[in-house]
Amino acid sequence: MLPFADALQRIVDSAAILGSERIELGLGVGRVLAEDLMARSPLPGFDYSAMDGYAVARSAFEGAGPWSLPVRGESRAGSLATPLAVGSACRIFTGAPVPEGADAVVMQEDVTRDGDNARFAAAPALGAHIRRRGEDLPEGAVALAKGTRLTPFHIGLAAAVDRSELLVTRRPRVTILCTGEELRSPGSPATPGTIPDSNGPSLAALVAATGAIPQLAPRIGDSLEATEAALRDALRGCDLLLTVGGVSVGEHDLVRAALARVGAELEFWKVQIRPGKPLAFGRHGSTAILGLPGNPVSAQLTFALFGMPLLRAMQADRAPIPPRGRARLQNALRQNPGRTGFYRAQLQGDLAITASNQASGSAVSLAQADALLIVPADSSGLAAGESVEFIRLAEL
Ligand code: AMP
Ligand code: MG
Repeated sequence: MLPFADALQRIVDSAAILGSERIELGLGVGRVLAEDLMARSPLPGFDYSAMDGYAVARSAFEGAGPWSLPVRGESRAGSLATPLAVGSACRIFTGAPVPEGADAVVMQEDVTRDGDNARFAAAPALGAHIRRRGEDLPEGAVALAKGTRLTPFHIGLAAAVDRSELLVTRRPRVTILCTGEELRSPGSPATPGTIPDSNGPSLAALVAATGAIPQLAPRIGDSLEATEAALRDALRGCDLLLTVGGVSVGEHDLVRAALARVGAELEFWKVQIRPGKPLAFGRHGSTAILGLPGNPVSAQLTFALFGMPLLRAMQADRAPIPPRGRARLQNALRQNPGRTGFYRAQLQGDLAITASNQASGSAVSLAQADALLIVPADSSGLAAGESVEFIRLAEL
C-alpha cells in the first residue's frame, strides 16, 4: 500500500502533457498558458499623466515661489501632445501623453488659475505624477510565464500587452463511469433500494473546475460483462477515465477484474489514506485511469486529492498540487495510525472545527466543510489547540 505523498507524486509525474491550441482572450480564464507571454513593447507604451493638472518643466521654477506660468496647449488622452513651449505650462488630463520637454505634472488641486496663467505655490519633484514608458514592464520581459493558470487579472495583463489570443494547453477530456445497480439519475422516480447518483454530477463539476471537459458515460449495473463493455466504450477518445464504485474487494466489485480484461495496466490500487483506501491508478494506451471508491465522500475527496492534480499536470500547470495552510484545532482529533487522515472541517479565523460526522457517506459534512485537515499517517491524533495542516476546498 502506497503512502499518500508517494501515490500523489507518481500520479502527477506520470501525466502526459497534452498539446496546445490558440483561443480567444476572453475564453482564457482557468486555462494554462502553453508559452511565455512576452511584452512586445514597453508597458506603458509612452509617458503619461497620472493626474488631471499641468505638465511643466522644472527648469521654469527658478528663484523663490510662487511662480506664474502662461498656459500653452492641452494634452488629452488618446492623442499626441505638441512639445511644451519653454517657460510655459501645458494643461494635461489623466492618461494623456506627457509633452516633450515636460518633466513633471502638478495636479490641478495645487494650481490656481489666473486667466491664461497658472500659479504654483510649490515646485514639483522630478517626474511627479508621470507614469514612465516601460515602468510596469520593459520591452521583451515575460508578462505571464508558461504554465500559469489564467485568472481574470492575467487576462487583463494579456490585453494590456496587446494580445487578442492566447496559446493554451488543450482541455483534457474526462469520461466518468459510475457503477452500481442501486443508482438512478437525480430527480428520477425512486424505486425501493435505489439512490440518486450523487458522485457523477459532483465529479463532473470537479473535473470542469480544473479546466477539463467532463463526460458522464451511461451508468452500469454490477455485472462483469456490462462493466467490460462500458470500459471499452469509455476508453475511446478520453485522456482520463474515472470509474466510480466497485473497486474494493466485495463480491460485486468488478471494476478491477474488468479493467484487467480490457488490457488496462494498473500501477497501484490501494493508498494509505482515510477515507478512500481503495484507489486504482493505471493506464490503457494514452488514457490514464483512476478507479475511485463509491462512497460519496471517498469518491469526491480522492478525486480532489489525486485526480485534480493529475488533470492540472496534464495541462502543464506549474502548480498542479493545491497549497496548504495551517490552523489551530478547536477540538481534539483521534485517529488510528497507519493511514494519512483527511478530516472535513470548518475554518473560523485561524481555528479549525472538525465536522461531527466524518462518515465516508456523509454528503452533508462535505458540502458544509471549508477545508480538509491532514493528519500524518504515523499520528494517533492531535490535541485541542495543536497546529494542523489543511487544504482549503475552494483552492482545490
Ligand atoms: P461501492 O464502492 O460500489 O461498494 O459503493 C460504496 C457505497 O457508495 C455504496 O453505499 C454505494 O451505494 C455508494 N455509491 C456508489 N456509487 C455512488 C454514486 N455514484 N452516487 C452515490 N452513492 C454511490
Ligand atoms: Mg457499487
